[in-house]
Amino acid sequence: MIIWQACSMNSRVWYNFGLIISTFCYLYFFNSTSPPNMKKIFKLFLILILASGCSTDDPNSGNGIDKSANLKSLGTSASDLLTDAKFTSMKIELVYVTGFEPSPKTITNLVEFLNARTYKPDGITVTTRAVTSSGKAPFDINEIVKIEAEERLSYNAGDEIAVYIYFADGSNDKDNSTKIVLGSAYRNTSIVIYGKTINNVSNRINAPDKSTIESTVVNHEFGHLFGLVNLGTPLQSAHEDDESAGHCEVSGCLMNANVQFGGGLVDMVDNNTILQLDNFCLQDLQANGGK
Ligand SMILES: [Zn+2]
Ligand SMILES: [Zn+2]
Repeated sequence: MIIWQACSMNSRVWYNFGLIISTFCYLYFFNSTSPPNMKKIFKLFLILILASGCSTDDPNSGNGIDKSANLKSLGTSASDLLTDAKFTSMKIELVYVTGFEPSPKTITNLVEFLNARTYKPDGITVTTRAVTSSGKAPFDINEIVKIEAEERLSYNAGDEIAVYIYFADGSNDKDNSTKIVLGSAYRNTSIVIYGKTINNVSNRINAPDKSTIESTVVNHEFGHLFGLVNLGTPLQSAHEDDESAGHCEVSGCLMNANVQFGGGLVDMVDNNTILQLDNFCLQDLQANGGK
């Protein structure tokens, strides 16, 4: 059973095809008057096919893990993350490049945010792990996707949904003097945080604590996984920013575009307080099954 679950669709089709052909060959030669040696050869062939099970040539089935549910587009798992209908627990796999570890407070704040917004009666767990640098900074999002394929270990399993967060040792390669990207939610359960950029912002004079900036950005990106704004969670009112798709037009809301794009973040975060979702965003989440 485990072998069958591990098979991807493609390899399963080829496996079945090989099985049918070899069975036919075997039956044909077994019933024919062919020499006994031929029977032996096809018997061996059939055993080999059966023993090989399935190949792992499909990138989505490496190591016998079905990764397909975690390779979908942003916002498609919003209700799975918010409700307990399909998944009763959540596992966050937080991977950071050595030297870019998020502060423990950031993790505590994230778990608090998730408990406040989601129904996961069997709990939310966070595992952290250091990895070596990819040496690819500054990053284009395709490089971030490649790093995930190499580093991510946790995928949805049973009634547990898995989310991957990568703290990168560099910045986004599209950053310029007027716009910098602090983080990005790029698939249904995948987030990148540009650790080096966060360090630079937090080192500015009068900047908020590093953990306050980290928390605001991580929670903001999680808001995108929750389908905000209008990214898989339907709008209950017109509050999407006309100039920045996927963001809330309310200044001071966690889902305002300035959170992701650094610029106004330092001004928005006062007294080291993490930004919160405004009522419009909360209503959207609640209508999609969240708290
Ligand atoms: Zn955003
Ligand atoms: Zn909002």
